[in-house]
Amino acid sequence: GTSTRPRGRQFFANPGPTNIPDSVLLAVAHSTVDFNDPAFMEVYDACVEGLKRVLKTRQHLFMYTGSGHAAWEASLVNLFSPGDAVLILETGHFSDSWASMARDMGLEVRQVPADWRQGVDMEAARAALAADKDRAIKGVCAVHNETSTGMALPLAEVRAAMDEVGHPALLLADTISSLGSIDFRMDEWGVDAAVGGSQKGLMLPTGMSFTGVSEKAMAAHEKARLPKFYFNWTRMLGRKQRSFVGTIPIGLFYGLRESLRLIEEEEGLEQVFRRHSRLGEAVRRCVRHWSGNNGPQLFCTNPGRFSDSVTAVLMPEGHNCEAVRGTALNRFNVSLGAGLSKLDGRVFRVGHLGDLNEPMVLGTLAAVEMSLKLNGVPHAPGGVDAAMAFLADGMAA
Ligand code: PLP
Repeated sequence: GTSTRPRGRQFFANPGPTNIPDSVLLAVAHSTVDFNDPAFMEVYDACVEGLKRVLKTRQHLFMYTGSGHAAWEASLVNLFSPGDAVLILETGHFSDSWASMARDMGLEVRQVPADWRQGVDMEAARAALAADKDRAIKGVCAVHNETSTGMALPLAEVRAAMDEVGHPALLLADTISSLGSIDFRMDEWGVDAAVGGSQKGLMLPTGMSFTGVSEKAMAAHEKARLPKFYFNWTRMLGRKQRSFVGTIPIGLFYGLRESLRLIEEEEGLEQVFRRHSRLGEAVRRCVRHWSGNNGPQLFCTNPGRFSDSVTAVLMPEGHNCEAVRGTALNRFNVSLGAGLSKLDGRVFRVGHLGDLNEPMVLGTLAAVEMSLKLNGVPHAPGGVDAAMAFLADGMAA
């Protein structure tokens, strides 16, 4: 045959984009309708309301045709003016990218540096804010779930640090790989701009992103002078749809209506979080088991910061993860995430978010364990058993 991949369904274990449920695929495949048609407007409005519920906000929502980068950019150009300072909490590849974007837009980027395996020290964040006596920092940018390292950042603690020193900066949160998989509470945590995308926890194709925006952020937006047109929230408010400029990707909205139904009605948002936490812990039990015999380890060394949507696995010294990823893909049709920027070759990532259940996770882990073996990577065999034992124990309760 000509195919280089084995038959059978691919187990897609990247941390985004993620698996798309069949009912969402069917919903996306909607024939064209006029996006000003009242029937579509109903779908549109229901999606806006549903997304706000998932963000846990009663404030504003603005949406863009574009991946997460678009919402990142929108959050900056709508809130800041040239030369404004923003404080970025270093978490990994994605906090670095957001920082690069801010720099290129003419903002002054300050960073709270952090060890990628341990995570930002909240005391250091508090100190950086306290030291800003003249309140030059206009925004604090925090990546809720750092997809490159498999670590979560406790946003409530970031909010608390800002409040303790009475810092008036806006809090911007990237929820791209947390929304719809890990608890996020925009209003309760005082998040002023929450950046999200379609292709991860929401189980949709890539191509739509959005920002939840607080009243306080809207007031800052009025004075923000960075250039913007497509992303301009004021323009959006002047349109019939009030949260979108340009042609509306109607297929993604039909898909979003269905994914919101799956999340809120069929499963329930809190159950979705519990499922992710269970599957995340199963993956971690497996990796911890492999780490015996000088095997691969959890990249995250701070148990309080484990991500329930993605696990980054650090290869033993002298072994490149690309061989393991290649075997998993070409022999077993299992797609794993690569290591990003300085983790290239050293870390592979198992995504466990979105439309996923126990057998899919176990199948992925089994393929990884076989790939470790086939590539002569040291490890303690039996990681999958450790994951199974954990999952079965939870069900016996
Ligand atoms: N932020 C985080 C935490 C991400 O995981 C990603 C993508 O993986 C992005 C930002 C960038 O989003 P996109 O690739 O959709 O432009």
